[in-house]
Amino acid sequence: MHELSIALSMIEIATEEAKRCGAARVNALHLKLGPLSGVVKDALLFSYEIACNGTPLEGSQLIIEDVPVVIYCHECQSEQPLKSVQSFCCPVCGALTSEFVRGR
Ligand SMILES: [Zn+2]
Repeated sequence: MHELSIALSMIEIATEEAKRCGAARVNALHLKLGPLSGVVKDALLFSYEIACNGTPLEGSQLIIEDVPVVIYCHECQSEQPLKSVQSFCCPVCGALTSEFVRGR
């Protein structure tokens, strides 16, 4: 499962960081999740809970913040939030773009 390996690497990073700070345990992880990440939120939460067992993160909370997809439009020369992930067009001028600033 894709989400389980993501959960495991997040826990690994947090465990390292906790060691570095001399913290005995971690209360919560904050994650920004974009619609283009291909990650299923519920599957990630489920995997996280299981993967935390026996680590300093056991009993901690995974707090996921959904972030919108933001594109860079060369026509407008500015960053624009996408209204829908169905169409990768600038919401202002309609130009097609493939440059994603956030949301992955
Ligand atoms: Zn534009």
